[in-house]
Amino acid sequence: MAREQVLEGVILRRWTSGEADRVVSFLTPERGKLRLRVRGTQKPNSRMGLLTEPLNRLSARVIEGRHQRLLVQPHLLRTYLQVRTDLERLSAALALCETLDRWLAEEHAEPEAYFTLIQALERLEQGGDVATIVGWALWRWLAILGYAPDLSRCRECGHPITGGDWQLDAGGCVCARCMPSRPNLTALSAEQVRTIHGWLLQAQPPQEPVVGAERLVRAALGYAESVVDAEPRWLTFWERLNALRESG
Ligand SMILES: [Zn+2]
Repeated sequence: MAREQVLEGVILRRWTSGEADRVVSFLTPERGKLRLRVRGTQKPNSRMGLLTEPLNRLSARVIEGRHQRLLVQPHLLRTYLQVRTDLERLSAALALCETLDRWLAEEHAEPEAYFTLIQALERLEQGGDVATIVGWALWRWLAILGYAPDLSRCRECGHPITGGDWQLDAGGCVCARCMPSRPNLTALSAEQVRTIHGWLLQAQPPQEPVVGAERLVRAALGYAESVVDAEPRWLTFWERLNALRESG
């Protein structure tokens, strides 16, 4: 017999499947990330198509059949209109959703990761600083998923993070004296390392913009490549976004 449950969640990604259907990645606080089929989304002016756009927060019925799982009767809770009408905000929000989709295992509840995404989307909607919000969300997710680096001292010489230049890799934090700078790693000041350290623990997005937050985003992506992500797709995405901003 089919099992049914009403769940709240955010559409992280959506793919075409067959003639009329689509498959969505639906992130819920209770059950984590679910892959669900949505029927009839590709018909012209399909209401289902509009409701199941990535970023939308929905309440929907999930039906588990023997061979497939369906998302039906979606009810829109939030669509983030200000984000959708601003190219930079929209690109950043979609990139956050795609990143989380890649980092999370299916059907493994991570409610804190879900609430971090919601908070990031809400701050983007309210006009908060894009790079600061993205940086905070990425570092916070890394902490929630158990990948937080030790940012208390240099892993080689034990020097506390009081000044000078620092780099982050899979092994943690290393001072400039212990390791010459490498082109694929982002050099950080002691203050920037302390900002990241704060973000790892901070459950609310920062209210004020952080100067040079792009560098902290870059550091998060570089670090994530060494601990979670084999492919640096998001970095390419971010570079494209920056190029677009500079040319526009
Ligand atoms: Zn050192």
